[in-house]
Amino acid sequence: MAGIYLHIPFCDKKCIYCGFYSVVSKTQRDRFIPALQREIRERGNFFSSLYPDDQTIKTLYIGGGTPSVLTPATIKQAIDELMATFSFPKTAFLTDDPDEFEFTIEVNPDDITSNYASQLKQLGVNRISMGVQSFQDTHLVWMGRRHTARQAIDAYKTLRQAGFTNISLDLIFGFPGITQTQWEENLDTILALSPEHISAYQLGVDPNTPIEKQVSQGKLALPDEETCETMYKTLQQKLSQGRYIQYEVSNFCKEGFCSRHNSSYWNRVPYLGLGPSAHSFIGRKREWNFPDVDTYCNPTITELREGENLSPEDVFNEILMLGLRTAEGAALKTLRESSPQSDIFISTIAPAIQDQERKGNLILTPDGKIKIPPGKFFISDGIIRELFV
Ligand code: SF4
Repeated sequence: MAGIYLHIPFCDKKCIYCGFYSVVSKTQRDRFIPALQREIRERGNFFSSLYPDDQTIKTLYIGGGTPSVLTPATIKQAIDELMATFSFPKTAFLTDDPDEFEFTIEVNPDDITSNYASQLKQLGVNRISMGVQSFQDTHLVWMGRRHTARQAIDAYKTLRQAGFTNISLDLIFGFPGITQTQWEENLDTILALSPEHISAYQLGVDPNTPIEKQVSQGKLALPDEETCETMYKTLQQKLSQGRYIQYEVSNFCKEGFCSRHNSSYWNRVPYLGLGPSAHSFIGRKREWNFPDVDTYCNPTITELREGENLSPEDVFNEILMLGLRTAEGAALKTLRESSPQSDIFISTIAPAIQDQERKGNLILTPDGKIKIPPGKFFISDGIIRELFV
C-alpha cells in the first residue's frame, strides 16, 4: 500500500503567508506536464525495489500551488501517465469509497464553476480540499487570497451539486486583525456548511514570505500565544459540539472521513512525491525534489532531487513526532521495533516521558500508546521537543 503526491507549482497570485513552493509566472505552464510525465516514467520503479509484493497506490493527492489553475484535460494527461506506470486498485478513479481509493485535489474557490467541478468528478476525483481560510473579505484581502467569502460559499455549493460527497475546507486563525468574535463567526459558518473534513491552522511565519519580512522589520505584530490558544480551544469546542472528531492537531472530520492520504504520512506509509519541491519517503529514505520549476522543465537536466537515509535516531524521533500529533498517539511497539537501538532510546527518554506525564501533557494508555491529551494539543510542539533523542 502506498500513496502518490503530485505538486502543481503554479498559483495565479501569491498569498502573503505562503511558504509552499509555487510561481505566478505562466512561462513554464505548457512545459510542466511533459516534465511531470517524464518524472512519472523515471520513477516507475520507486516502490518495487522495497515492496515487490504490494505496490498498490491507495491514495493520490494533487496539491500545490493551486492545481485548479490547470484545466481538467491537462490534469488528465498526468493521471493517464500515472495509470500507465503504477498499479492502482480496480475501482480507482471510479469509486467514492476512500477506503478503496482516495483521490484528492486542492482547489481555489474562484476556479470552481459547474463545468470545472463536473469535469473533476469525471476524472475520478472523490475528495476535494478547498482553501477557504476565512469567511470575511477583509481577512482574505489582507492574506492576498484571490477569492471572496461569497465565492467560497458558492464554490462549496457548486461542488456539492456536482456530486462531491467528501469535501475538506481549510481555515486559518491567529493572524493579525482577526478577533475572537470573527473567529467564532468563521466557525459557525463552516459548521453551517457541514463539510466532511475541516483543517484549521494557526498562521505560521514561514521563511522568505512577505509576512516574515514585515514581522522581522517590526511592521507587523502577531497575536500573542494566549489569544491564539483561546482561538484553538474555541475551535476544538465548537467542532466537537458539531460532532467532528479531532484526529490530528490541525485536522477534524466527520466519522469515516479522515484524510487517508495525510494519515499515511503520519503512519509513515511509503509515498512518492512528483513535481518541483515534492517530497518522497520509502523505507529509511527521504528525498525531496528541488523547488525550481525551470530546472524541472528542462529535459537536459536529470538531477532533480536530493535525499538522505534516516538514522535510527531520526526514525525514532519521526515516529514520536508524527504519532504524538495524532489522537491515536505513538505506539510503544512501533518505537521498540524501529531499530536495534530503540530500547536504549526508550530508556533515554523515559524520564522526560514521566515528567510530561506528571504535568498532564502525556498519557500512557493500557494498550501501549503515548498520547498528548487533546487539551494539550496547542502546546504539542513543545511537548514533543522534550522527548527527542
Ligand atoms: S493559493 Fe495556496 S499555494 Fe498558492 S500562494 Fe496561496 S496559500 Fe500558497
